[in-house]
Parts: sequence; C-alpha cells; structure tokens
Amino acid sequence: REALPGDQFELFYQPLVSLRHRRVVALEALIRWRHPVAGMVPPDRFIPLAEELGLIVPIGEWVLRTACATAVLWPASVVVAVNLSPVQFLQPGLLDMVQAALADTGLPAERLELEITESVLLADSRATLETLHALRAQGVRIAMDDFGTGYSSLSYLRRFPFDKLKIDRSFINGLGDFEESGAIVRAIAALGQSLGMATTAEGVETQVQLERLIADGCTELQGFFFSPPCPASDIPRLLAEGAARHAA
Ligand code: C2E
Ligand code: CA
Ligand code: CA
Repeated sequence: REALPGDQFELFYQPLVSLRHRRVVALEALIRWRHPVAGMVPPDRFIPLAEELGLIVPIGEWVLRTACATAVLWPASVVVAVNLSPVQFLQPGLLDMVQAALADTGLPAERLELEITESVLLADSRATLETLHALRAQGVRIAMDDFGTGYSSLSYLRRFPFDKLKIDRSFINGLGDFEESGAIVRAIAALGQSLGMATTAEGVETQVQLERLIADGCTELQGFFFSPPCPASDIPRLLAEGAARHAA
C-alpha cells in the first residue's frame, strides 16, 4: 500500500531479439520493488498479493504509463511489452486506461504490446474478448505469455488472434536434456508460422539453446544470453551497442 505513493516501484527492461531483423525489436517492462529495508523485491514476491488486494489495478496503471513514457524516448522501431494481470481485465475501465496512457504519453498504439496469460481467457467472458479486440483494433499488439504451461492453451488460439506466442521458459530450459522439449518448441514454432503469429522463446541462456531455437524456427529470442532486465537508463546504450554489433 505504501510502495506506490512512496515511489518505490521501478521498471527494468529486457530485450526481445528478432532473428529475421537481427536486432532488438521490443523491450519487456518488468516491475521491481525497491524496498527501503528489504532491498530489491522481485515481482513474484508481491504481484500475487497485489492481485489479491486489488492493488494490481493502480500498480498496473503506473506500470503502463511509466513504460509508455519511457518507450517514447526510444527509436520508433522498438516496441514496449507490458504484462497485464487477469485482475485488470475484471475492471471495466481497462480499455480507457490504455487509451489514456497512449494519448497522454504520445506513444503510438503500434509501439505497445500487451502480454497476457491464458488465465485472462479462462473465464470466457465476452467483455474480456471485446476489450482484447478493441485494443487490437487500435493497433495494440497482444501476446500470449507462458504459452504451453496452462490447461488448454490451444483452444484459446481459436478464440483470439494473438500476434505472438511466448514459449514458456521451462521448454527452453529443457532443450538438450529432454528430447520432448525440442519437439514441443518445434511444434509451437510451426503452429505460430501457420497461424501468422510470431514465436518468442523465453529464458534463452546459452549459445547451444540459441542454435537449437534458430533451427527450431522461433522468430524471436529473449533471455540472459542477450541481456538480463536492465534499468531504463541502460537502454539507450544497450540499443546502440546492438545496432553497432549488427552493423559490424
Ligand atoms: P514473465 O512475464 O514470464 O517474465 C519473464 C521472467 O523471466 C522475468 O522475471 C525475467 O527476469 C526472467 N528471465 C528473463 N530471461 C531469463 C533467463 O534467461 N533465465 C531465467 N532463469 N530467467 C529469465 P521477473 O522479472 O522476476 O518477473 C517474474 C514475473 O512477474 C513475470 O514473468 C510476470 O509474470 C510478472 N511481472 C513482472 N512485471 C510485471 C508487471 O508489471 N505486471 C504484472 N501483472 N506482472 C508482472
Ligand atoms: Ca511476460
Ligand atoms: Ca513468460
């Protein structure tokens, strides 16, 4: 309750690298809580509680506004990805909130990507689907996060035309150790290609994984191999270094 008024939240950003464009095409905003006593608190430690208390609604609005205001300063070819909690969809004002954040910061809708998990669609509410369609009609992209870990991810692909599938880290982690992981990653990449959806492999940590994922047909990669999440102040340098490497 004190973190938001106390200005204790901070956004870090982690790059998503496109294999086709060979550059950083997006940065995912990831929240941290700089607690005066406990130090840096990761989101897994407070997001579930914020959801339970309903505090995720004002926190989520702060995240979106801060991410949009930051992204406006980046090159126009770079998108910002923001995580949305299912609880934010239970509120009627989500569409208005997103529109206001874009209008107030001046970020074009095409430069915003919203990441949702299948739990958003679990309730199968018409209001949720309408909100998603309305956001997409404005130009905002919608990505399905943690794909492959839920109850029936595949059925949701028929219900909404996602722009992107983010393949859960557990499958990338298992590459090399479990033959099944490779088969699953290849299947998701092929599915994405058939459906016209980008496929991002999350949690890429090693060169071996990188090579497997390229061979398996993923279109984007994200993970410590490229960069951990970084403070906003590091992003201009990170983008410039990436561009220089590409030129070389
Ligand atoms: P996520 O959306 O799946 O985010 C990816 C998580 O994987 C991040 O953890 C990131 O730091 C971590 N990660 C990235 N690359 C690697 C890698 O190569 N190896 C490993 N081991 N981990 C990697 P983080 O920042 O702790 O965030 C955890 C979760 O908290 C996120 O999972 C997301 O579900 C949630 N979250 C973060 N920020 C927000 C937010 O602003 N709003 C909401 N609603 N949820 C958020
Ligand atoms: Ca995410
Ligand atoms: Ca994820």
